[in-house]
Amino acid sequence: GDLSVDREVHSVCPYCGVGCQLTYQIKDERIVAVQGRDGPANQGRLCVKGRFGFDYVHHAGRLTTPLIRKAGVPKLASDAERQGDWREVFREATWEEALDFAAGGLKRLRDQHGLKALAGFGSAKGSNEEAYLFQKLVRTGFGSNNVDHCTRLCHASSVAALLEGVGSGAVSNPAIDVTEAELILVIGSNPTSNHPVAATWMKNAAQRGAKIVLADPRRTDIARHAWRTLQFRPDTDVAMVNAMLHTIIEEDLVDQAFVRERTTHFEELKATVAAYSPERMAPICGIPAETLREVARAFATAKSAMVLWGMGVSQHVHGTDNARCLIALVAITGQIGKPGSGLHPLRGQNNVQGASDAGLIPMMFPNYQRVNNPEAHAWFEQFWGQPLDATPGYTVTEILKKAVAPASDPHKVWGMYVEGENPAMSDPDLNHARAALAALEHLVVQDIFMTETAWLADVILPASAWPEKTGTVTNTDRTVQMGRRALNPPGQARQDLWIIQQIAQRMGLNWHYPGPESGVAAVYEEMRQAMHGVIAGVSWQRLERDSAVTYPCLSEDDPGHPIVFIDHFPTPDGKLRLVPADIIPAAEKPDDDYPFVLITGRQLEHWHTGSMTRRTEVLDALEPQPTASLNGADLQRLGVQPGQALTVASRRGQITLTARRDDGTPPGTVFIPFAYTEAAANLLTNAALDPFGKIPEFKYCAVKVMRA
Ligand code: SF4
Repeated sequence: GDLSVDREVHSVCPYCGVGCQLTYQIKDERIVAVQGRDGPANQGRLCVKGRFGFDYVHHAGRLTTPLIRKAGVPKLASDAERQGDWREVFREATWEEALDFAAGGLKRLRDQHGLKALAGFGSAKGSNEEAYLFQKLVRTGFGSNNVDHCTRLCHASSVAALLEGVGSGAVSNPAIDVTEAELILVIGSNPTSNHPVAATWMKNAAQRGAKIVLADPRRTDIARHAWRTLQFRPDTDVAMVNAMLHTIIEEDLVDQAFVRERTTHFEELKATVAAYSPERMAPICGIPAETLREVARAFATAKSAMVLWGMGVSQHVHGTDNARCLIALVAITGQIGKPGSGLHPLRGQNNVQGASDAGLIPMMFPNYQRVNNPEAHAWFEQFWGQPLDATPGYTVTEILKKAVAPASDPHKVWGMYVEGENPAMSDPDLNHARAALAALEHLVVQDIFMTETAWLADVILPASAWPEKTGTVTNTDRTVQMGRRALNPPGQARQDLWIIQQIAQRMGLNWHYPGPESGVAAVYEEMRQAMHGVIAGVSWQRLERDSAVTYPCLSEDDPGHPIVFIDHFPTPDGKLRLVPADIIPAAEKPDDDYPFVLITGRQLEHWHTGSMTRRTEVLDALEPQPTASLNGADLQRLGVQPGQALTVASRRGQITLTARRDDGTPPGTVFIPFAYTEAAANLLTNAALDPFGKIPEFKYCAVKVMRA
């Protein structure tokens, strides 16, 4: 065959937060192949999603024309489960009509019900520029801070603990720094599936002698490379890490100089963890006391030790406490501020770091400036030339609760603009979330596919896939990278940045961002100013030239700083604040009726709600159907063979899917990926929230499992 290509375009992978650089090969306006590029996070490597995960862009189901719900077609929560022909529900419209209808409906509700009547969900899968403009639209056009995105469902608790403890929500060291570490603690994370290229650096480190400690209720692939695997009971993270802190203090392994000079509140931590001896915690977390002591000693005495964590830590009602314990672990051992050490919450989406930095969160303006801080508030009012709300907005889950509030509630949410998110699949307790979306008087959805959320919309705006636009994204390592347009959007689909600006103008905002690609460079430069110096040295031209710069980067000649906190923390007193945590149990424990623990998550081949990867030929062929993973002993007890159908039910819903044997999943637990619309795991999950990060407890609820 003809192996020639028409052109090559350098960009970044749109899937996980590792942020691998890649090169699209284009022939006849199609991506025919993708190759790894020598980026700082991947050095030429790609996983299966980055290599084979792009034909969704050319899928026949792409939205190519604006759609308006037909008059008289009622909105039902069950619409989210619809498949097939949208013509029964929607009619085609021109852009002019659809934009007028979308913005007109939002404006009407704002004028009728006040400035709290509207909310917006932006996206961690869009660019920094889209995130920045979207939050600016909500704050200056809708009139409130009711703007959020999927960081709420991901690392909101980690960020809450990090902001409180170290003064910055970002990582201290890049993931590739594991190659410098003597000990690597991987906790609540399955990197082989979820951050695959980062996992390759861990495996390389193990090969050259680094000790990997995997701490997770599931014995996942990385255990094959681990020095010790701590398969602790689900929900006992605080007990386990407190037992390590206890050991380090009791056995005099504390880095006294570091604690004295760089931290505060050590005595409070010491008093709390005094009650958590490994001997007392061993029966709670299911790990022998001697193993807990051995790992604690190894962590404290390693020349360099690094902690990487995922949703297994963050998605609990005690997610913030889990992260507090991990911060304390690196702090009292002095394992931060040097190569191969520190704290790395592995970011899920490709731009969840950047979208959060850009202010796509309800309590903070760009660069984590609190909306209720008078100084920050005044600065942004002046910068944007608009009066701004000084009260924090509602989070993702709170917004959906407010959508079903009584009409008398002055903070009821009546209308929403959802850009590139799919809450009808990603939120906990989906029956409730879908009913809330259906109850909205006006729902504007901007997406590339007919997602479960789009089926509930009043108007759908067809948007651009990642290879169809130019923009920047910020990966888990704080590296800002340039994504470049390789294709044009299909049909009448338009770039997201253009759509957001069209809505803004129709809401009365006088925005002008001149230049090619919907003014993306001008938006970036405005965002750079709003970021208060953090990316001062990262000009658009520099990114065009270098493709990647790691912040903080204060001037054009500053090379950027992959490792931070070397001599101080960005807290008011420059010190790390230790915050002790006690055990808070999961919101819903198993009982006789619902005896199993459900853990939800992702798998290597599918991405989040599946809207992209389920429409990708290779990835869907590898994992074509929803599965529930159970221990072989449990399957035997249930009388179910792998491959047979199972029903899994919680107090909130039930799904039927295929049994898979996985002896790494401990007895009494079931693991289900949340990517499958035909068996949506989030119909089962519990919406109970962590009080600090407001993150739902996706990693723990009670279910029963039956033969279907
Ligand atoms: Fe993309 Fe993440 Fe895979 Fe890299 S590791 S290719 S960023 S999905």
